[in-house]
Amino acid sequence: MTTPYVNAKSEAQTYIDSVFEQLKLKYAHQNEFLQAVEEVFVSLVPVFEQHPEYIKNNVLSRIVEPDRIISFRVTWQDDQNNVHVNRGYRVQFSNVVGPYKGGLRFHPTVNESIMKFLAFEQIFKNSLTTLPIGGAKGGSDFDPKGKSNSEIMRFCQAFMTELYRYVGPDVDVPAGDIGVGGREVGYLYGQYKRIRGAHEAGVLTGKQPGYGGSLARKEATGYGLVYFVEEMLQDAKESFLNKTVVVSGSGNVAIYAMEKAQHFGAKVVACSDSNGYIYDPNGIDLKVVKELKEVNGERISNYVNYRPDAVYSEGCSGIWTIPCDIALPCATQNEIDGEAARTLIANGVKVVAEGANMPSNIEAINEFLNNGVLFGPAKAANAGGVATSALEMAQNSSRVYWSFNEVDEKLHDIMKSIYTQCKTAAEKYGYAGNLVVGANIAGFVKVADGLLKEGVY
Ligand code: GLU
Repeated sequence: MTTPYVNAKSEAQTYIDSVFEQLKLKYAHQNEFLQAVEEVFVSLVPVFEQHPEYIKNNVLSRIVEPDRIISFRVTWQDDQNNVHVNRGYRVQFSNVVGPYKGGLRFHPTVNESIMKFLAFEQIFKNSLTTLPIGGAKGGSDFDPKGKSNSEIMRFCQAFMTELYRYVGPDVDVPAGDIGVGGREVGYLYGQYKRIRGAHEAGVLTGKQPGYGGSLARKEATGYGLVYFVEEMLQDAKESFLNKTVVVSGSGNVAIYAMEKAQHFGAKVVACSDSNGYIYDPNGIDLKVVKELKEVNGERISNYVNYRPDAVYSEGCSGIWTIPCDIALPCATQNEIDGEAARTLIANGVKVVAEGANMPSNIEAINEFLNNGVLFGPAKAANAGGVATSALEMAQNSSRVYWSFNEVDEKLHDIMKSIYTQCKTAAEKYGYAGNLVVGANIAGFVKVADGLLKEGVY
């Protein structure tokens, strides 16, 4: 592992390198997991130099091994009565800060490496929210694309029939992620309730409003991302007004990032799905995108049928060739590589902030940081979703509901606090302006200190 921070190897550097080398040997094929760990580890050298107790207590080796990985078979029947088998997972990574918490992803690419990278990221993201939630992730290699509503329902029921024994409002609280939204969470919760015979609403978040869910949860990740960027811009004496914005994806995160950016006066010119992207020089018409994606479940290519000036292009990476001031990757992991980053920079991008989890690879992050681009890392910038999940848990526990504005205001305050924590930590450890280092350190220190307080087990 190369780190830009020290010349001669300190004890801290040697320790961090040795834990990473062991991890690489042990999990050689888990590329996404190793990438997520490396991104955190390179930030931690200055912290370990000031905290020898972390080395003495072998904190890193304890933090990179999940508490447990639950893996199970999910068998379900399609509408023609054919029987299918998928793999289900729940990675309970750390409950130092609170009950395990993190979404479920249903996507054919799901495997143990992806689950571990997401759960690992979630530990530090959740710690940054300042709310009492630990880190977890789960999901399945089930592909929801093209499945009927009944098939989705039967799959969710079969999935929860396995998962229910490992989750609970004070144990582990799943939610949505790619392929899992309010409908799926509803089916999962219905099955949990049936098996347990009890209304334990706090066992899942992202439920639909009126059915145990929090208002503003659906909007929270996208809105939170834009609130975070607003803080970054304000510090640079800038604002969203009249800025050109490119957003990848067209799920919950992307749609509500576009909505809030437009609300702040930005011009959003592009978004995408897993097939391709649309460019609308007049500014994206969100009503059309919502109709296509939230109501009809159609592909984004159909946007051009409603807006004739817009252009559709096949493939995903081309979206980063569109000149913009602000880029918000909200689709999936590793969607921006070094080349895409260099193109964005050459075209004058000023701010990049991550709505998806780990959308920029390490080479891309270094390009942004080395070229003066303001960069908001995922574990800080997209933490608004899970933070609002924690607000949903609070409402469920106290059996009350808050208004949309109450939740939105709390979300806004949380995003401001996350930004301040990242900025302050970066300054404190000598990396002013580097929010990657700031987020990793601020998220990590709280977990490491908690771990030490609990004693060795
Ligand atoms: N999947 C979201 C994330 O990556 C939300 C998780 C949650 O609400 O628990 O943070």
